[in-house]
Amino acid sequence: MRPPLLNPLFAGAAGLKGIGQKLDKLMAPFLRPSHGTPGDTTRIIDLLFHLPSGLVDRRFRPRIADLPRDGVVTIEAHVAKHRPPPPMNKRLPYRVDVYDGTGMLTLVFFHAYADSIKRMLPEGETRFISGKIDWFNTEPQMAHPDHILTADQFEKMPLIEPVYPLTEGLSGKVLVKAIAQALEKLPELPEWQDSAFLQRHQWPSFAQALKAMHHPETPASVGLESLPRRRLAYDELLANQLALSLVRANMKRAAGRRLPGTGELRAKLVSALPYSLTGAQTEAIGEILRDMASEERMLRLLQGDVGSGKTVVALLALAAAVESGAQGALMVPTEILARQHFATLTALCEAAGIAVALLTGREKGKPREEILARVKSGEIGIVVGTHALFQDDVSFHDLGLVVIDEQHRFGVHQRLALQAKAGGATDLLVMTATPIPRTLALTVYGDMDVSKLTEKPPGRQPIDTRVIPMSRLNEVVEGLGRSLAQGHRAYWVCPLVEESELVDLAAAEDRFTALALVFKGKVGLVHGKMKGPEKDRVMADFKAGALQLLVSTTVIEVGVDVPEATAMVIENAERFGLAQLHQLRGRVGRGSGKSTCLLLYQEPLGETAKSRLSIMRETEDGFRIAEEDLRLRGAGEMLGTRQSGLPLFRMADLATDGDLLAAARDDSQLVLNRDPKLQSERGEALKILLYLFEREEAIRLLSAG
Ligand code: ADP
Ligand code: MG
Repeated sequence: MRPPLLNPLFAGAAGLKGIGQKLDKLMAPFLRPSHGTPGDTTRIIDLLFHLPSGLVDRRFRPRIADLPRDGVVTIEAHVAKHRPPPPMNKRLPYRVDVYDGTGMLTLVFFHAYADSIKRMLPEGETRFISGKIDWFNTEPQMAHPDHILTADQFEKMPLIEPVYPLTEGLSGKVLVKAIAQALEKLPELPEWQDSAFLQRHQWPSFAQALKAMHHPETPASVGLESLPRRRLAYDELLANQLALSLVRANMKRAAGRRLPGTGELRAKLVSALPYSLTGAQTEAIGEILRDMASEERMLRLLQGDVGSGKTVVALLALAAAVESGAQGALMVPTEILARQHFATLTALCEAAGIAVALLTGREKGKPREEILARVKSGEIGIVVGTHALFQDDVSFHDLGLVVIDEQHRFGVHQRLALQAKAGGATDLLVMTATPIPRTLALTVYGDMDVSKLTEKPPGRQPIDTRVIPMSRLNEVVEGLGRSLAQGHRAYWVCPLVEESELVDLAAAEDRFTALALVFKGKVGLVHGKMKGPEKDRVMADFKAGALQLLVSTTVIEVGVDVPEATAMVIENAERFGLAQLHQLRGRVGRGSGKSTCLLLYQEPLGETAKSRLSIMRETEDGFRIAEEDLRLRGAGEMLGTRQSGLPLFRMADLATDGDLLAAARDDSQLVLNRDPKLQSERGEALKILLYLFEREEAIRLLSAG
């Protein structure tokens, strides 16, 4: 249970002055880690961990005669004269002239209430006024000053003001006030960092660091390099690494089991394959089988670029589990992918006589009960499914191996739940399609053993990638028409533009309607909100070639395998992460046909955006693309955390804090070597750190082992 000490931090923010229920609801998905789940409320801690992205410096206080051309200033002036708009023309602004002995400045208010302006600026009085300077010919103006204050109020106002990332409906002023109140609730906390380490870095305490970030004293205080921010980033990274180390320690502690297999089923499977395995696949399978055959528990990550052929590696590992008299489970992040894998595996497993079952949220009622019974009795050798695999009513006869595909979509807690279900001794193989950089792999997986598929199946041709402005849409459609007329199949991807799925959906539907008019009867649409069977039908029609053009939102990103598809159009490509574009592009170029990928962008396109897209043209090396993406966009974006349960870093920035990540990993291993149950004084403090960053699943493991 969370230490009561932390309760004030996890209390709702709705009690704060200025935060009503409406704002609370609005802020929750914006401020909570991993964007929370629907119905979540905002907590004090969410406000505290929402760090400023910059600041406004109001320290510059020129006289009116010396006003700069632009920028933010604070002046002290007498209110000279109000000039309301003429009654017949309300669209003109309300003006107030103020004067400081050196010159006149006009304050300008559009659509303003005369009463409130009169209240704020009584004629003849002195006010402190802060805001951005504009010039109208030779006359200085300030439109809608940020602050208009009396001398008393001014004395209390900080001249450096933090600027926060905002969301629609949430104003900076409201947030500043709420965060100031939240800071007052900070309890006295023990120090969890090593004191020598703190001193070496000259880092402040956790509480001091938060205060320094939210009440910045100089422009440097909120920068990426600022000591308080680095301290907080380290706290976050240490919590993450400690949690992962605990998971790993716990898994390794649990006695493993030997799953040596006989080779019999695998031989049948391999001879049923329409191709021979690549060297990289054979090698990876060898590593996996060695782990499975050993006493120790397998904890292995299989990295392979999109299209490198991970599925068959998984299948052979699963078959080895079945040969050993156990069962295997393959967990994937989406319904479409589960169905696709199920179809692939069923076809191959027939040859070997292995029974495969599918279990997703959509299997319900009687059929589901039947599947569950056959899984429980052990009749089913391999189960493929979504996270529905570890719902409470699912129990296995003897689960020996769990394979998790496209893992970065799952959170650590889901992985833990599946392991708990498996009863401790299961081997674990995690497959990732994005060849994520080492730093990032560490934050998501901790220290797992790694196998890599470094080679693609033979015969793949390079994908011809082009970057094209949206203004040439007509030509693109024409080209696509020629390709469809020759019998080719193509994808058309519409992006996630808005936070709101409904708006995106509308965009995809509009595109579908337009394309369906041009290519009658050949176009299908899939998106995340579609009913399952409907989605299946469209996918099946596309797979079979009855539909030639598949319009979709990003649902096809993960894993869809239709080797006959040779063209892909991605709309608003500039809005995607590079790794995501790479994943999408990986849906084509899977067969021996020549493939194209058209990246459509909306003009105008900035320099960075241009160079990002040109990387896609230059290389198909997922690793290089991933590194670039991490550099250009940061980790959260790259992993597509928006759709995942990944612990999103709120304060650490992997591009800047890579050094801290390595330190956090070493630190966490050191701590656990000395104090595996976190019982020392520092250990107890570290538990508080884990709670603070909501890694309490890891704490449960302390008592479990
Ligand atoms: P990913 O690693 O992206 O999950 P898949 O497992 O979906 O890749 O494989 C991509 C495609 O390559 C599939 O159509 C699969 O049948 C094919 N494939 C896999 N291994 C080989 C191989 N050794 N030779 C030829 N084709 C292969
Ligand atoms: Mg795959």
